[in-house]
Amino acid sequence: MENQIKPQYVQNDVVVTMHYQLKVDGEVYDASEENDPLVFLQGHQNIIPGLESELYGLKVGESKEVQVAPQDGYGEIDKDAIQDVDRDEFPSDIPLEPGVELEMKDQEGNEIYARIVSVSKDRVKLDFNEPLAGKALDFRITITDLREATPEEIEHGHAHYESEEEDDE
Ligand code: ZN
Repeated sequence: MENQIKPQYVQNDVVVTMHYQLKVDGEVYDASEENDPLVFLQGHQNIIPGLESELYGLKVGESKEVQVAPQDGYGEIDKDAIQDVDRDEFPSDIPLEPGVELEMKDQEGNEIYARIVSVSKDRVKLDFNEPLAGKALDFRITITDLREATPEEIEHGHAHYESEEEDDE
């Protein structure tokens, strides 16, 4: 690869590499692995808006704590996304217990996810909300690398990795 002048700080159309830890309700919910940081293209909604907007101007090596309100994260809980379904509609091999996560297909064949909230004699209450909907998110992030995006990455709206050279989305 040719020598590039590295960007000095996070700005639009820069590929950002960062480590993160996400706490929800005071507990660690998710974190990047030591050898597997998050890589994304800043300014293209690759990550949730409330986090992306707080990264501008950060330099390599800098850390920041970012609190993201639900409306800037995974949204508020949608009561219409909690629905009762007839128990008969579930295949018998699915364990119908609260907390079980289900992968389903909608009418267009897209994969959708739901969690069982409760089970009664003939009804199952399903929650189709994103699991982090309605939650305040506490991130701690550390920027570990910055580089200019390629024209192709900017056109695609996401970062490319070496293993993704064939990617033509
Ligand atoms: Zn691409």
